[in-house]
Amino acid sequence: MQRQPLPKQVDARRFATSGVDVTGFLSVKSLPRFVEGLASDDGDVDVELHFYRDEQGFYRIDGRACAQVSLLCQRCLQGMPGQVDADFELALVWNDDQAKALPRSLDPVVVGEEMLELAEVVQDELIVSTPYVSYHALSDCPAADAVKGDQEVDSDETPQRESPFSVLGKLKSPD
Ligand SMILES: [Zn+2]
Repeated sequence: MQRQPLPKQVDARRFATSGVDVTGFLSVKSLPRFVEGLASDDGDVDVELHFYRDEQGFYRIDGRACAQVSLLCQRCLQGMPGQVDADFELALVWNDDQAKALPRSLDPVVVGEEMLELAEVVQDELIVSTPYVSYHALSDCPAADAVKGDQEVDSDETPQRESPFSVLGKLKSPD
């Protein structure tokens, strides 16, 4: 299937009522608040959204967003390839009171009569899923020579060193 841009706006309640799946991509450039936490605005985001009404009658958007981005290494302050994955379970509500009444497992998206801006929803989810700090592996980091001699690899680095493999796994998996 050909990749298509994610629709800008949708009638989210109507989509949920009819049960609609939406897939598409966004450019990282189009998400300025997300870019603030990255080394550059290069890259794309693959998005899958599932609109439906659940057994309790909530208007739901479940989905995931996978962004191939350039993260900022906090040791050398240069870019490093990485991936930000966001998985989310959202419920459309009309106002803050309804938002507070939701089960804890659901995050509210407050939307009135207006159309829902999908990029805004995806951007918020990517921001909360972006790691606070990222480091190159010591062997790859231009600034690592200073610390190599007297410091063992610290445990903070384990998640970052695993990420290249999870990227490969995701790229290979068929859609
Ligand atoms: Zn580095």
